[in-house]
Amino acid sequence: MINVSYVPAFEDNYIWLIHKENDPHIVIVDPGDAEPVLAAIATHSYIPVAILITHHHGDHIGGIRRLTQDYDIPVYGPSNEGIGSITHPVREGDCIDIAVLDCTFDVLDVPGHTRGHIAYYSEKSLFCGDTLFTAGCGRLFEGTAAQMYQSLQKIAALPNDTLVYCAHEYTLDNLKFAKVVEPDSAELEQRVQDTLAARKRGQPTVPASLALEKATNPFLRCHLPNVIEAAENFALKRLQSGADTFTVVRHWKDTLD
Ligand SMILES: [Zn+2]
Repeated sequence: MINVSYVPAFEDNYIWLIHKENDPHIVIVDPGDAEPVLAAIATHSYIPVAILITHHHGDHIGGIRRLTQDYDIPVYGPSNEGIGSITHPVREGDCIDIAVLDCTFDVLDVPGHTRGHIAYYSEKSLFCGDTLFTAGCGRLFEGTAAQMYQSLQKIAALPNDTLVYCAHEYTLDNLKFAKVVEPDSAELEQRVQDTLAARKRGQPTVPASLALEKATNPFLRCHLPNVIEAAENFALKRLQSGADTFTVVRHWKDTLD
């Protein structure tokens, strides 16, 4: 089994460190900033063995150069986002073998937030950058709503006990919007209470299980009658498909942010 710990960075980013129990080797996911990662390496005597990159935004790649100056390690990342520091471009269908940790990562193409965004899946843990967020999803900077909808459908097809390791602590903000879409959901209210309590204790609310996301994340619920009805009431038109509903719900959230 892999263990995952986190390094907080910037305002609300999480840089994930993947390791195994009693083993100093780590895989670093989306090091937007090298300094806090180097501090964690020094504190825990970690040995970095690889970097995984989900997409090209600065808060995900900003620490690569500094880390690879100190550590001669492979940098895996999307093949079509023009990230110069990537040594091993990967795409859906590729499987990354981290031999020293005896673990592999399957690569998924999940465009939408950016056009070449990828995610990494290993042992029921999903590292999905800014695609699926806890209780929300990434903004559409480069891709279309239809692409993001397909990407989220792909993620939704993973096992329900998959843990979703997104790259930001956005849960509480996202839940506020989720409550606008589904004001009567008891599961949503419970998640709000749980999230408030965790944040009060200073704990992260990431990862969350895919099951919890399916129960409370409006962007994974665009096929359900009450979400379709709420989106129709916002858009003032009939919606024909899950993709149409997703497009409206994503736009709806953008109007409130
Ligand atoms: Zn991003």
